[in-house]
Amino acid sequence: MQQTRIDQGTAYWEKFMARWPDFRSLANATVDEVLKEWQGLGYYSRARNLHKTAQIIDADFPESHPTELDEWQSMPGIGAYTAAAICSICFDTPVAAIDGNVLRVLSRFLAIHEPIDRPSGRKPLEEFANAWVDSENPGRHNQAIMELGALTCTPHAPDCENCPLSSACASRHMPHEKVTLPPFKQGKTIVLDIALNFHIIVHGNQILMHKRPDNGVWGGLWAFPSAELPFDKQSEPFDVPEPLEKQLIARGPCGTPVKHLLSHRRLHVQFWLWKSPLKNKSGLGDWKTWEEAETLALPRVLERSWEDVKKSASQNASKTTA
Ligand code: SF4
Repeated sequence: MQQTRIDQGTAYWEKFMARWPDFRSLANATVDEVLKEWQGLGYYSRARNLHKTAQIIDADFPESHPTELDEWQSMPGIGAYTAAAICSICFDTPVAAIDGNVLRVLSRFLAIHEPIDRPSGRKPLEEFANAWVDSENPGRHNQAIMELGALTCTPHAPDCENCPLSSACASRHMPHEKVTLPPFKQGKTIVLDIALNFHIIVHGNQILMHKRPDNGVWGGLWAFPSAELPFDKQSEPFDVPEPLEKQLIARGPCGTPVKHLLSHRRLHVQFWLWKSPLKNKSGLGDWKTWEEAETLALPRVLERSWEDVKKSASQNASKTTA
C-alpha cells in the first residue's frame, strides 16, 4: 500500500484472496496468472516474490507454514520489516516492526538527531524499539505505533497535544514551526571516484580472462585482470598483477577510457594492453580467444567497451612494442 490508495488496493486484495485463499492454491497458479491479477498495481517483483514464496512454503512446509522470523526473512522479497510484521501480528513474536512511520515516531520520542539511514542513528532506534515492544501483545503494539505515526505524529504537523506519548516525548516542546524535527537523513550516498585499470594481456590470439571472486563487485563474472587505484593515481598504469609482471611487454593504452557508475563508486576505467611472450599458468585466470571470452558472463562495463577494446587491441598487436 506504499504508493497505492487503500480503496484501490482493497479491491485487488479481495479479488486476489477470493481466487487464491491460501499458499497452496497460490503455489499452483502460474506466474502469468498471478501477474495478470496484479495488473495495474505496479511493483510486479512483489507479485513474483509472493508467488515464489507460496511455492517454497508449499514445498517445504507441506502441513503448515513458517512461524520463525528467520524462516520468513529467507523468503523472496521479505525483509526485516515484513518478517517482523508477520511474526508479531500472526505469531505473537516480540519483535519490533520498524517502518517509516515508526522511525518518525521513535526518532522524535527519543530526539535522535543522528541520521536514521546511518548506523549511528538507526542502531539506537532499533535497540529501543525492540526493548519497548509489548511482549504480551507485540502485534497490537506494532500496529499502534505505525498508526500513531500515520495519524498523529505526521511528517509536517504532529498533533502533540493529543498524542498518548506526549508526557515522555523528548520533542514535544519543540516549536515545530521553527525547528525541523527528526527524523534526519544523511541522504545521498557519497560517491567515491576510483580509477580502474583493466589489463588486456595478449598471447597470440588469446587473452587472459579472470573470474572475479564471489564476494566483491561483479562477483562470479569474468573480466580482464584489473587493479583499482585512487583517482589521482590514474596516470600510473603499470600496476600489472605480480605473477606476470616480469614477463610482460607493455603496449600502452587500448581503446577509449569510460566512466561507469556503481552505487557508491564512480569508476574511471582505462584499458591497458600487454603482450605476454609466454603462456604461463599465472593463477590469474584462463587463456581464451576473444570469441570464447565473449560467451562468458561479463560485467556491463566490459560489454559496453568490448568491441572498442577488441578492435584497438588487434590494431596495436601488429605495431612495434611501446
Ligand atoms: S509528542 Fe508530538 S513529536 Fe512526540 S511522538 Fe507525539 S506527536 Fe510525535
